[in-house]
Amino acid sequence: MIPYGRQSIEQSDIDAVVATLRSDFLTQGPVVPIFEDAVATLCNVEYGVAVNSGTSALHIACLALGLTSGDWLWTSPNSFVASANCGLYCGAKVDFVDIDSRTYNMSPQALEAKLVQAKEKNCLPKIVIPVHFSGQACDMEAISKLALEYDFNVVEDATHAIGGKYQGYPIGDCRYSDITVFSFHPVKIVTTGEGGMALTNDQELANKMARFRSHGIVRTAEGGQQDFSPTWYYEQIDLGLNYRMTEIAAALGLSQLKRLKQFVDRRREISTNYNKAFANLPLILPWQNPESASAWHLYVIQLDSSKTTIDRVTLFNQLRSSKIAVNVHYIPIHTQPYYKALGFKLGSFPEAEEYYSRALSLPIYASLSDENQEKVILGLSDFF
Ligand SMILES: *Cc1c(COP(=O)(O)O)cnc(C)c1O
Repeated sequence: MIPYGRQSIEQSDIDAVVATLRSDFLTQGPVVPIFEDAVATLCNVEYGVAVNSGTSALHIACLALGLTSGDWLWTSPNSFVASANCGLYCGAKVDFVDIDSRTYNMSPQALEAKLVQAKEKNCLPKIVIPVHFSGQACDMEAISKLALEYDFNVVEDATHAIGGKYQGYPIGDCRYSDITVFSFHPVKIVTTGEGGMALTNDQELANKMARFRSHGIVRTAEGGQQDFSPTWYYEQIDLGLNYRMTEIAAALGLSQLKRLKQFVDRRREISTNYNKAFANLPLILPWQNPESASAWHLYVIQLDSSKTTIDRVTLFNQLRSSKIAVNVHYIPIHTQPYYKALGFKLGSFPEAEEYYSRALSLPIYASLSDENQEKVILGLSDFF
């Protein structure tokens, strides 16, 4: 089976992990802050807070921004459920903003229209989470203008997008947001097994997120008023969690990070090959905003209904039976049973639903061989 996504592990990664296993620290030790600094430097941002998953990073981002019951969090329906669940974890209410039909990212026009309505009803969001779907940057400039005008915080869900750029700057620099979140799940660009990181330029937010990561405990006087001697003394000042990244994971991440450019370059090369090979098939290929340099987490095609009557399920089954494990990203979050039970209805976000009815993710990952990519290309051309 050729999967749609897969990690790339080399001897250097294994050596880094083994060296950590032989060291004094298995959970958060000296390598975790080195990994945080390496990611922050790469993204040209001040602070990185490493955690045990992208989901945890989204959660501590919301906690640090003070999201609580009575507040609203808005995100894209075309995402993994974690982008919305982080709001519910904080007791907040969640709503969605429909996507742009070309980028499959949150539409700034739809966002503005929804903000105008929300202002009238006095239910503006506290946090908006745009998702850089497939690794392509959202229109962050437009979203951040709206954030100023309507006074909400922005958390970028960049779990698909480490190594990508927007307007020539690295995704993660928080130029247009309060916090940016990465995931290091094995299907993502860089992996730590499970893991994530929240990035920010705001020292107070960084301190809060670091506290929420580890039980809400502080070991030094933040602000300096209390006396924190003797050295065993600590204080719990928030209700935090145990979201710490292990030393083992950080060592793997640090080792992987050295190949980030290589990973993204290879993904881009694969996408270019697909673009060329499929130019004459009845498919809609992933349109790219010239302001974004995608990290190419996903390569999504859609069947062009103006050129073919074949349905997506037929194509999906055919490719799967040829041992090509295509996938679908994403079932719109508001159509999940849990969200339906909260009152969401089919038809509420028509662009996301329309997109979902036709989308198919093809295999793309740094360790995909030319030979296997050729099998995918032949699988599709033979089908048509
Ligand atoms: C993977 C993913 C997450 C969650 O990341 P984990 O590390 O798996 O917790 C959140 N949002 C999106 C869009 C994702 O793809």
